[in-house]
Order: sequence, then C-alpha cells, then structure tokens
Amino acid sequence: MRFSDQQLQAYLDESLPGELMSEVERLLRTDSKLRERLVYLVGVREAGVHGLGEIWRRNRLSCPSRQQLGSYLLGAIDDAKGQYIRFHLENVGCRLCKANVDDLQMQQTEQQSTAQTRRRKYFQTSAGYLNRQT
Ligand SMILES: [Zn+2]
Repeated sequence: MRFSDQQLQAYLDESLPGELMSEVERLLRTDSKLRERLVYLVGVREAGVHGLGEIWRRNRLSCPSRQQLGSYLLGAIDDAKGQYIRFHLENVGCRLCKANVDDLQMQQTEQQSTAQTRRRKYFQTSAGYLNRQT
C-alpha cells in the first residue's frame, strides 16, 4: 500500500504536503482500491463525528453506575436520579444500561426466589416439627 490510512486522513484534512496531495489525487483517478479506502475512511470519520458512534460515546459518559441501576430497580433512589435513569433507559435507550438492568433484574429475581425457597423450607420444617409435636 502506497499511502497509509493516516496519510489518507491527512489528505481528507488537506494537511498533506502539496506534492503528496497531488499524488493522491492523481492516484485516485486510476486506483479504484485507493478510492474505496478513501470512501471507507470518509464513512468512518462521518460516523465518528456525527453518527451513532459519537452519540453512543456521549451517552456512555452519562451512564449511571451499576450500583445506581440496582438502587433504581429496588426503588431505593431519590426521585431526581430515578427520573434521570428512567430517561436514560427509555428515551435515550442506552443498550448498555438496559443490558445491565436485565442482568440486575435476573440477579434480584434469583435472590428473591432463593429467599422464598429458604422461607418455605424453614416453614415446612417447623410445620413438620409442630405436626410431630401434636
Ligand atoms: Zn447507559
């Protein structure tokens, strides 16, 4: 490969030295591979600046912590934070946090059913004990 991605990026920024600029231009007329690479780089760059990539990264910064999500699920969080998290999940639709919430929900359900089983076992044991007493 004659030009590196960095050089092509620089070409797009028009920050290559003049000779190289014109060489890229000249090559672009004949070299379809180079054209493809350039189109690809433009695509990546557009996606990075204006597209989902950027939005994703920005949202990511404002993601609540896993602990906050856990408190949110338990309803043990103050209103303002709860609202923010609901907005983040439902309006922003952050996939990362949704995955986290699903995971936390599963854990909580598991914990609850373990606790229930434990209670039931305890109840049955004491019921059995009581039965034997009478
Ligand atoms: Zn998030």
